[in-house]
Amino acid sequence: MDGTTLEQLRSALRGPVIGPRDPEYPEARTIYNAMIHRRPAAVARCADAADVMAAVDFVRDHGLELAVRGGGHSGAGLCVLDDAVTLDLSPLRWVRVDPVARTARVGGGSQLGDLDHAAHAFGLGVPAGIVSTTGVGGLTLGGGHGHLTRKYGLTVDSLVGADVVLADGSFVTASATEHPDLFWALRGGGGNFGVVTSFNFQLRPVHTVGVGVTLWPVDQAREVLEWYRDFLPAASEDLSGFFAQLVVPPAPPFPEDIHGHKMCGVVWCWTGDLGAVETALAPPDGPGAPTFHFAAPMPYPALQTMFDGLMPPGLQWYWRGAFFDRISDDAIGVHLKYGENIPTDLSTMHLYPVDGAAARVGGDDTAWAYRDAVWSGVIAGIDPDPDNAAIIKEWAVDYWEELHPHSMGGAYVNFMGVGEGHDRVRATYRDHYDRLASVKRTYDPGNLFHANQNVTPAGP
Ligand code: FAD
Repeated sequence: MDGTTLEQLRSALRGPVIGPRDPEYPEARTIYNAMIHRRPAAVARCADAADVMAAVDFVRDHGLELAVRGGGHSGAGLCVLDDAVTLDLSPLRWVRVDPVARTARVGGGSQLGDLDHAAHAFGLGVPAGIVSTTGVGGLTLGGGHGHLTRKYGLTVDSLVGADVVLADGSFVTASATEHPDLFWALRGGGGNFGVVTSFNFQLRPVHTVGVGVTLWPVDQAREVLEWYRDFLPAASEDLSGFFAQLVVPPAPPFPEDIHGHKMCGVVWCWTGDLGAVETALAPPDGPGAPTFHFAAPMPYPALQTMFDGLMPPGLQWYWRGAFFDRISDDAIGVHLKYGENIPTDLSTMHLYPVDGAAARVGGDDTAWAYRDAVWSGVIAGIDPDPDNAAIIKEWAVDYWEELHPHSMGGAYVNFMGVGEGHDRVRATYRDHYDRLASVKRTYDPGNLFHANQNVTPAGP
């Protein structure tokens, strides 16, 4: 972008526009995943919806490329493109709770922690992800799952409306009664359809929850997974527990004698009666006595920030995802092989439950196309050292390729990695893809919003 165009963009917006020569540029182009190094033409920090409308018009009218940044956590780095204008929504971090209606209006650049904190004061919350610095924007538009999903559904199942700036620069509200086709597509279809300047969520009762962690040596993963795959789907929906393979971090509550050990286990969340927490989170003995077990009640936002310290910005990340309706004996063999060969201390594999309330929503009610899945899995190679980028990527890709035949085919759109092709996007949306392509043709026929897991507009 030449200097004159940059100045014109600056004068069109109220928020700051940062160009490559500005001292803030290195920080402004940096995203959560340090494996991604892209150089945008400019970063436009939008002060409000009016700025978003002006920026969309400017980019489109000047034939420029556009990327939209919510929380900046996309593993594939979808919020920044070389030579494009990044619409950075980070100034739109605000939450207004209506405790009577039990709803929350949330700015499009907010982080999960903003929402958790504001709603907690009223004993309320929204089911969402497990690290508080993740953006509400990208997480919600992809579907969103976390500790409350078995009980209250996906994040999109609590979405009741959204304010959206469309590709033609117009501003609309999408809900069950206004632009219902757009509202359907926003609930799982990613950032394909416009810039969401605010989300409107139905809030759910949640305050203090039971939190637990149970660990066994990783070579017991077969016994643990054989037990877990039967136990959890049959358990009360007040109980959630995601399975993990990990290297034990050198920090409390883990005793020193297991620091650095490769282990497998379950992270629990109990949202039922707190009087029953000791029974609900008693050490499981199905797969044999665990090496480590911890359980305690804690405020919901404390659970939601529990992993923040382990996952600061600036790490190298490469991940791949897959949906599972069962955990077959053969799949367990793959988990065992790669769990024993976790390449770095932060690399991990998680299986997040997406059954319960999430599975009771009609298969065609939202763009999320895997209501029949029981788990959404992610294999994440993670490390601070750029020199380890190749080995963490190789581990994640090899693990995924061996596991893929034992999965349902597609993956959670928010867990797709760099380099996964358009056929993977189609597999993720299954028979919803054509409907999404037709909504895309209505709202973004020129595919202005293509920095995402892209749905291309349907032909005439
Ligand atoms: P960004 O990189 O800013 O955006 C991602 C995509 O969404 C881009 O295409 C962007 O254009 C679009 N987008 C973002 N905001 C908007 C908006 N307001 N309007 C229009 N488009 C927008 N996911 C879960 O479901 N559950 C989890 O527990 C979970 N845990 C995670 C933990 C970590 C540490 C990380 C890194 C990710 C996790 N995720 C989880 C995945 C997460 O949902 C995705 O990374 C998601 O893309 C993050 O959204 P973001 O706004 O931070 O990302």
